[in-house]
Amino acid sequence: MNLRIPGPTPCPDDVLEAVGAPMMNHRGPEFAAIVRRVTDGLNRVFGVSGDVLTLTASGTGGLEAAVVNALSPGDRVLAVTIGVFGERLAAIAEAYGARVERYEVEWGDAADPDEVARRLDADPSVKAVLVTHNETSTGVTNPLQAIAAVVRARGPLLIVDGVSSVGSIPCAAERWGVDVLVSGSQKGWMVPPGLAFLWLGERAWAANAEASMPRFYLDAARARDSLASGQTPWTPAIPIFYGLDKAFEAIRAEGIEGVYGRHAEVARYTRERVRALGLELFARDERFASDTVTAVRWPEGVDGPAIARRARDEHGVILGGGQQSLRGRIFRVGHLGHFTRADVAAALDVVERLLP
Ligand SMILES: *Cc1c(COP(=O)(O)O)cnc(C)c1O
Repeated sequence: MNLRIPGPTPCPDDVLEAVGAPMMNHRGPEFAAIVRRVTDGLNRVFGVSGDVLTLTASGTGGLEAAVVNALSPGDRVLAVTIGVFGERLAAIAEAYGARVERYEVEWGDAADPDEVARRLDADPSVKAVLVTHNETSTGVTNPLQAIAAVVRARGPLLIVDGVSSVGSIPCAAERWGVDVLVSGSQKGWMVPPGLAFLWLGERAWAANAEASMPRFYLDAARARDSLASGQTPWTPAIPIFYGLDKAFEAIRAEGIEGVYGRHAEVARYTRERVRALGLELFARDERFASDTVTAVRWPEGVDGPAIARRARDEHGVILGGGQQSLRGRIFRVGHLGHFTRADVAAALDVVERLLP
């Protein structure tokens, strides 16, 4: 089986083995040691000085945690949306009573930092900006560093969905001026779904002290207090901690720069192969094409979903489909986490064979 969706991603055998280890007391010293090692590994990859918090939730739970721990009902928020996940983050903020203005970018494009600047200058009451670093639904990566510079110069908090970017492509949260950063275990981290990672910078912790959106399970202050003794407030997804502890061995062995390099190299190869097949990338400007997932338009007159079904049933290649309005119009190839160029090549060979 060649699982080429952009999450959940394949896990290395030693990670799967670790995930199957016996349960232990999550209030005992052995688990505390794992929590500390995993937190240290996350801090390094996030490139931050404070601790990354590990929540038992999928990525969306991490996004919800980011919102409710930094904001209050009635807060003015600018949501930059370039696809499904940007819209999800905006919807979460709305669900908790933020007053959300959307800067909606046509799907396939990246956000323009100058437009973010214009919107913030037009409304100085904006308390926070929400941005998806890598929009998994369209295969587009936003110019986060440039957006962060614009936001920081004007003062609002910058809350970033890095679920499908952190650990796979560079994201220097603290240095770039990101205030809250979220990731999720089943994307680039080579482990199964079940954990969300949440980092709050100093400005975000200051905002947290005032933030009044309701929260209990996802309360970051509780998670931070528990972490001081190597624990989590509630029973965590212990097996995923085991897996992540193991995955960090591989990340350390490859080196994070090596990990980033592999993602960039295979992404470049994927785009070249797609072009050679006469297909069109969904990302309109290749400078913003994602290095973790490539979205490709099915050509006019081709029954894309039928090809994807045959790829699955006859060749064991599982491609990602299009979400929402992109259903049936694109396919997506995940190249994040534990993969080689050969895995992607094999999937594209099958697409080539099945195309009319
Ligand atoms: C996968 C993903 C999420 C979270 O999805 P879950 O299914 O809740 O884990 C959020 N944002 C982005 C960009 C993603 O790729």
